[in-house]
Amino acid sequence: MARVEFDTVTKVFQDTSGPIVAVEELSLDIPDGEFVVFVGPSGCGKSTTLRMLAGLESITDGEIRLDGTPVNDMSPRDRDIAMVFQSYALYPHKTVRQNMGYGLHLSTDLQDEEIDRRVVEAAEMMGIEDLLDKKPGSLSGGQQQRVATGRAIVREPSVFLFDEPLSNLDAQLRKHMRTELARIHSELGITTIYVTHDQEEAMTMADRIVILDNGQLQQVGTPKDVYYRPANTFVADFIGSPSMNFFDVELEATESGGRLVGTGIDCEVSNRIVEQAEPGEYILSLRPENLVVDNEASASESFEATVDVVEVIGSDNFLYLDVAGQECRVRTPVDVEPTEGETVRLTFEESDIHLFDRDTEEAVL
Ligand code: ATP
Repeated sequence: MARVEFDTVTKVFQDTSGPIVAVEELSLDIPDGEFVVFVGPSGCGKSTTLRMLAGLESITDGEIRLDGTPVNDMSPRDRDIAMVFQSYALYPHKTVRQNMGYGLHLSTDLQDEEIDRRVVEAAEMMGIEDLLDKKPGSLSGGQQQRVATGRAIVREPSVFLFDEPLSNLDAQLRKHMRTELARIHSELGITTIYVTHDQEEAMTMADRIVILDNGQLQQVGTPKDVYYRPANTFVADFIGSPSMNFFDVELEATESGGRLVGTGIDCEVSNRIVEQAEPGEYILSLRPENLVVDNEASASESFEATVDVVEVIGSDNFLYLDVAGQECRVRTPVDVEPTEGETVRLTFEESDIHLFDRDTEEAVL
C-alpha cells in the first residue's frame, strides 16, 4: 500500500497546432488506503494524470512520489501499480486464468502454484471462478470487466488505478459494479485512484473527490464537501443532478438586514448574510431540492416562477420553470405537481444560499 503525492505536476503535449497544457501544476496528497475519484468533463486531464502516475506518460514539470520516493524516472513495472482500463485490454486468445496470471509470470519469479493460488483467490473475490477456463470473447462486458479487475488484484499492487472502468456497461450493471469495487477496496484497503466523468459515480464511490477542469484542480474534498460547499461555480454546476440554479443578484444592506435583488428576485435576508458577504454583486446559487413551492409564502421571502415542464420520475418530481426569462430547476416531493403554465412562488431557507463572486466565480458564502 502507498501514499501518492502529486507535487506541482504539469503535462504539456506538443501538438501540430502548438503546445497543449493537459495538466497544470497539480498538487495533491493521497494518503495510504484512500479511495480517490478524479472527475471532470472530457479533456480536463483525468486520464493524463493517471497515465503519468502509472508511468505511461512522461511528466513535463513537477514530481510524483510513491511513499515519498520520486517516480518520475522510474519504469512503469517498477512502480507496483496496477491499472484497469475502460477497454479491459484482455488477451483474446488466452483463457481468463492465463489472462489473470500472465503479468505475474512475466514480472515475478513466483512459482506456478503460487500464481494459480492468487488467480483463484482473486477470481473468487470477483465471483468469476466458473469462468477461469473460458476465453474473453465468450464473456459479457460485465464479466470481462471483472476479469480485468481480477487481473489487477492478482498483482497485489500498492496502488490501483481505474480509468473509466464501467463506461461500457449498461446502467444497472454499472451500479452493481460500483458497489463491488467499493467492497473490494474495503476488503483490500489498497490506495485507489478512479477516473470517471460521471459525477454520480464519483459521489457514491469516493472517500475524496478531485474535480478537474481544463487541466486545473477545482476542488478536493469529501462528497459532502463538494456538494454542500462547492468552491466555485464550476463545481457547483458539475456536482448534483439536476444541476444548481444560478441567478445574478445584488446584495444590498437594509436597516433590518439585507436584500437579494436580481431579475425576478427580491428577497429579504438576515444580517448574517450581509456580515458574511459584503454588499455587492454576486451569483446567487440554490440547489433544486432547496427550492420549495409555496404559493402562500410572503413576497419578501419568495419569488415568482412559471412552470414550463413537470417531469415525474417516481421518487420525486422535477420542475423546470422560468424566472423572468431565467431557467430554474426544482426538485419536489411527488405530491407537489403543479400544472404546466401555472405561476407558483418559490421559497428557500437562508442556510441553503450560496453566493459566488461575479468576477472570480469563487464561493463567498
Ligand atoms: P476524457 O474523459 O475524454 O478521456 P480526460 O479528462 O481524460 O478526457 P485527457 O485525455 O487527459 O482528458 O486529455 C487532456 C488534454 O490533453 C486534452 O485536451 C487532450 O486533447 C490532450 N491530449 C491527451 N493526450 C494527448 C496526446 N497524446 N497528444 C496531444 N494532446 C493530448
